[in-house]
Amino acid sequence: MARVYNFSAGPAALPLAVLERARDEMTDFAGTGMSVMELSHRGKAFREVAERSEAALRSLLQLPDGYRVLFLQGGATLQFAMAPLNLATPEATADYLVTGSWGLKAVAEARRFCHVNVAADEEASGYTRVPPPAGWRLRDDAAYLHYTPNETIGGVEFHWIPDAGAVPLVADMSSSILSRPLDVGRFGLIYAGAQKNIGPAGLTLVIVRDDLVETARDGVASMLRYAVHAGAGSMSNTPPTFAWYVAGLVFDWLLEQGGLEAVGAANARKAETLYRAIDDSGFYANPVEPGSRSRMNVPFTLAEPGLDAAFLAQAEAAGLTNLKGHRSVGGMRASLYNAMPQSGVDTLVEFMGEFERARA
Ligand code: PMP
Repeated sequence: MARVYNFSAGPAALPLAVLERARDEMTDFAGTGMSVMELSHRGKAFREVAERSEAALRSLLQLPDGYRVLFLQGGATLQFAMAPLNLATPEATADYLVTGSWGLKAVAEARRFCHVNVAADEEASGYTRVPPPAGWRLRDDAAYLHYTPNETIGGVEFHWIPDAGAVPLVADMSSSILSRPLDVGRFGLIYAGAQKNIGPAGLTLVIVRDDLVETARDGVASMLRYAVHAGAGSMSNTPPTFAWYVAGLVFDWLLEQGGLEAVGAANARKAETLYRAIDDSGFYANPVEPGSRSRMNVPFTLAEPGLDAAFLAQAEAAGLTNLKGHRSVGGMRASLYNAMPQSGVDTLVEFMGEFERARA
């Protein structure tokens, strides 16, 4: 069976070279006579895997000194709770910018643990743009400012980093991390589920500034404290070893592609190709303001929703899979993470043109 172009929002396509390397090493990793899955997480062989993976990530992000990198579990969803539990007291207020459904979920969870000030919420525009900073109601005494750089469902992306002043900036980068160069020095805390641009599901990446590692409130379970994970090299309990290993292969692959400058340029080209095709057609539409459009997740609708099923079936037959939009919004969504090649986008655009002409 041939590989397809997989436009899933996550778990998402991985680079073929990474899968092939993992396959080649599957039953005998580096002369151990075992799979990585069978290695003790405390043994030398896996410790080297873990260290190499972190070193590659640090090199990719050109991570400044003063940050801890944690390889955790629980998904980005658990970070919705861990951020307030570690960075805010119950009496404190945290600022949140809401540009879509993931931001809303982050707010709902944070409200369980601290006060939340929704500094901006784009509901009025139907979440079709990043709200202009002039209208944000930020608090000087906020414990942190949280935002979602890329809303995976609505396809709304910040193409710049908010100015949080002296307040620690916290970002849910689940669907945008490693998609372009990133000035990590602007952030207090970054977290991301792995299953889009990093590797297999089950791993959650956390990058936390040193001064925010030890600030968890009293009474928080050990496994929810950044300090516990940082102190144990992310091996406070058994980590998701295989996912950690594959993430390392992905980081190596990204370095081989030329790093985040090159990857970012390729991603910009891919997104431009698809948005141009949508805008030039009279048949497909994307509601997001051009300056806020996501490079990673491109939602689009057909002029006749009755044709959605036919579009999906014919796309599938053409080897273009997982184009169905999120169940909450319908329509289509093409996710163009790092592992999606330009040829996948070109093939999709060609298919969309043919589909439109056949129906016209
Ligand atoms: N935040 C964003 C922006 C996401 O896209 C997702 C998953 N699609 C999540 C959070 C939730 O991530 P997880 O399933 O890893 O908890």
